[in-house]
Amino acid sequence: MAGKNWHAGGKAMIPAAAGACLLGLLAGPGRVLAASGAAAPADAAAWDPDTVRQILTGGGAVVLFLVAVIIWAMAALRTAQNTQRRNSAFVSSALNNMGQGIVMVDPCGRLAFCNDSYLKMYGLSRSDLYPRITGRGLAELRHGRGTLGCGIDEFFSRKDNSEGIITELPDGRSILVKHLSLRDGGMISLHDDCSAQRDLSSQLATTKKFLESVIDNVPVCVAAKSIEDGRYILANRAFERFSRLPREAIVGKRAAEIFSAKTAATIEAADKSAITAPDGQFRSELVVERAAEKRTLASNRVIARNDRDQPEFLIALFEDITEHKSLSRELESTKKFLELIVDNIPVALIVERVSDGRYLLANRSAETILNRRREDATGLTAKDIFNPKEARLIVSRDEAAIRQRGVLSEEHPISTKDGLRLFLTRRATVLDEAGQPQYLIKTHEDVTDRRQTESRMAHMAYHDGLTDLPNRAAFLQALSQMIEACEGSGDEFAVLSVDLDGLKEINDVFGHAMGDKLLIEVARRIQQSTGGGVVARLSGDEFGLIIDGRQPEAGKALAERVAENLARDFLIDGKRVHTGVTTGISVFPQNGRDAASLLANAGAALFRAKAKSRGSISLYEPEMDRQIRDRRALHQDLSAAIRNGEMSLHYQPQATTGRTVTDDDVTGFEALARWIHPTRGFVPPSDFIPLAEESGLIVEMGEWILREACREAASWPKPLQIAVNLSPAQFVRGDVVGLVHSILLETGLSPGRLELEITEGVLIEDFERGLALLRRLKALGVCISMDDFGSGYSSLTYLQAFPFDKIKIDRAFVMNLGLTPQSAAIVRAVIGLGHGLHVSIVAEGVETEEQLRFLADEGCDVVQGYYIGKPAPILQYCALVGRTLPPARKTG
Ligand code: C2E
Ligand code: CA
Ligand code: CA
Repeated sequence: MAGKNWHAGGKAMIPAAAGACLLGLLAGPGRVLAASGAAAPADAAAWDPDTVRQILTGGGAVVLFLVAVIIWAMAALRTAQNTQRRNSAFVSSALNNMGQGIVMVDPCGRLAFCNDSYLKMYGLSRSDLYPRITGRGLAELRHGRGTLGCGIDEFFSRKDNSEGIITELPDGRSILVKHLSLRDGGMISLHDDCSAQRDLSSQLATTKKFLESVIDNVPVCVAAKSIEDGRYILANRAFERFSRLPREAIVGKRAAEIFSAKTAATIEAADKSAITAPDGQFRSELVVERAAEKRTLASNRVIARNDRDQPEFLIALFEDITEHKSLSRELESTKKFLELIVDNIPVALIVERVSDGRYLLANRSAETILNRRREDATGLTAKDIFNPKEARLIVSRDEAAIRQRGVLSEEHPISTKDGLRLFLTRRATVLDEAGQPQYLIKTHEDVTDRRQTESRMAHMAYHDGLTDLPNRAAFLQALSQMIEACEGSGDEFAVLSVDLDGLKEINDVFGHAMGDKLLIEVARRIQQSTGGGVVARLSGDEFGLIIDGRQPEAGKALAERVAENLARDFLIDGKRVHTGVTTGISVFPQNGRDAASLLANAGAALFRAKAKSRGSISLYEPEMDRQIRDRRALHQDLSAAIRNGEMSLHYQPQATTGRTVTDDDVTGFEALARWIHPTRGFVPPSDFIPLAEESGLIVEMGEWILREACREAASWPKPLQIAVNLSPAQFVRGDVVGLVHSILLETGLSPGRLELEITEGVLIEDFERGLALLRRLKALGVCISMDDFGSGYSSLTYLQAFPFDKIKIDRAFVMNLGLTPQSAAIVRAVIGLGHGLHVSIVAEGVETEEQLRFLADEGCDVVQGYYIGKPAPILQYCALVGRTLPPARKTG
């Protein structure tokens, strides 16, 4: 306690000195000695006794008074000294016991006081403080101990910082030093060990940073706002991403400043609900606008309260669930959709749980089988629904399917309210992840109708729908069976191909309904004729028959019986109809050993019979086969004819009728196809045109002919007509209108110069279609002629239905003029008909002057025939078309 003494001693001397000074003043300078020693009584004995007594009395009083005063003063002084000492000790001890370090410096910069805490704080002891030490000296001492934290000058330069300065000590402590200037020029510095506080705040800062980074990285949007003013104080990264705004644009703003008015109102309403919620929380789904799109948010708002339990912050956590919502909506609708399908499929469907056999699902169609509403069946087992016998059967089948684990199908009758029906039941097992049967899916399909249809269809596949006779396929099958039975046995049988005559005409004259009835009747009569043998309808008007016995007698006899039976008139719908048959016969084994060749050969014999005469019967001969093969070979060659340049066109002139005809009367030409075969030479059109029509080659060939003829005519100097024949097959198979149109465009021929010659075949095949095509052709601006009029049915209906530009009288009538009186009558009638209809009449096959004269006299418009000019290459008619003859070839 040396310091304390030093300090305490300094202070005790002040009151003692003050007391001595006061006594001196009262006694004067001479008395100071007397008062302070024993010399005073010797002075008093030298004076008069009264005086002395008076003086003594007076003086004694004064002295007494003075002594009293002195004693009082001494006592007061001591009391004051003691009080001050006590106070001083109290203050010193209080200051020394403070945790803070305190240093006081007097106006001269000398240390006036420093407490123990200060010394301890900086590792100093009181003995380190030398007398008259200054503040700077103290700093130097500390610097020496390494507890100043910086250089001495720096320390003093920073001392005026109002916040104070932090001194970091080598042992890690931090001291906050504050300097306070005193009014008298002195200074107090306070030293506060703030290490713990600093640690705490740094810990706090770390924790805060950590939490901020967590909040920033959670995928949920987090926002916090002050309840007082509704301004955002926090927005995490997810919020930034969602709002597409940086947090600087969010923090400090209200919802209304960031979002649309509608969205802000939604947010504010949710905030309000959270603030007023009793548990301080509010969960909801919000629809907000982000640019032009609407987003759905799942939001949770929580209220944070302060220490006075007042709501202070609102924390909003939200997630964008738009996609999720639409996905779940989609899932829901898909589920509904599938349920709808399952419920409406026309097959009964039941799903059963394998573990307890309970029905989990049944659709509408299953209600019939379950005999109850589908919702009433769920949860039940087979035993609850069916009678014990049925249930046992069902359960045993279910178990078999479960054991097998595949799909098990069976067909069995089930009695329903609609009677006994045939059901196809399929059982499929659904396995769980462990491969154990989990569900059994059962479908029950009512196949009663289907099976009936199938058997009907099977019948139809082998039967002709009209006559109910076996069809071609069934006939071939029967033929194969017959061959199998007769093979190697020496037995013979015949195959008859029977063709009904005139069916086309009957259809045409009386209509198809009548034709159908006739066919049914014919079938019945043929069946009667065979007496139980095989009869089939092979095509429209062709029947096939098989007859065993000695051949060819048996076959021939049957053919005759059939012909006889069909020769009698048919009475259909009160109308008498006559028909007949032509028959071709082939015999097994002589004319073929398989079904196909036997039938083909019977067909070949029929072809020959037809060629011979209608109503005849023809037996197959190998020669026919050769002819047919020859036809096939010719067909082969024909298909290459255009490519090989073997086809050409001949042109036959047509002229205005007069008793004489000159070149000037020529109005146009008919183009006629010519084929020069490389080995056979000239093949007549009457041979190759039907061949081309049968095979469809006519489409390609017809196109070539039309193009060639138009191209040629377009090159003529004179604008003469060009007539081109079109086959009915071209109307059926090809796009005849498109073809004519494109060829006219391509060749540049004026449509008015083109004449298309068609036969009534075009209208017989399909009247409506034929008529429509003719109209469209006419609309192109070309002329349409009716060719070979008089040779076929020459139905006047056709002339009425379509406004033909020309009628060509068949050459057979023209050639017979003068030979048969009928021909003249017919020709005259046709000319009259044409004039009545305002249609130009062309007479074909004019070979003589007489014929020409007759036609001229009758007023026929145009003539064509060898007499006017034969079909020939156009070179021969150069002059007629207005071309100069090419220079004659030099000979020799
Ligand atoms: P069509 O259309 O009636 O042709 C007239 C036929 O009569 C031609 O026979 C012609 O040579 C012949 N002819 C012309 N004037 C006389 C005559 O005064 N006396 C005799 N006896 N005959 C005469 P072609 O060229 O043999 O044609 C026969 C049939 O072949 C044609 O009869 C036609 O139906 C068909 N045809 C010819 N060329 C074509 C063609 O390019 N396309 C189509 N689709 N058929 C054609
Ligand atoms: Ca013709
Ligand atoms: Ca003709």
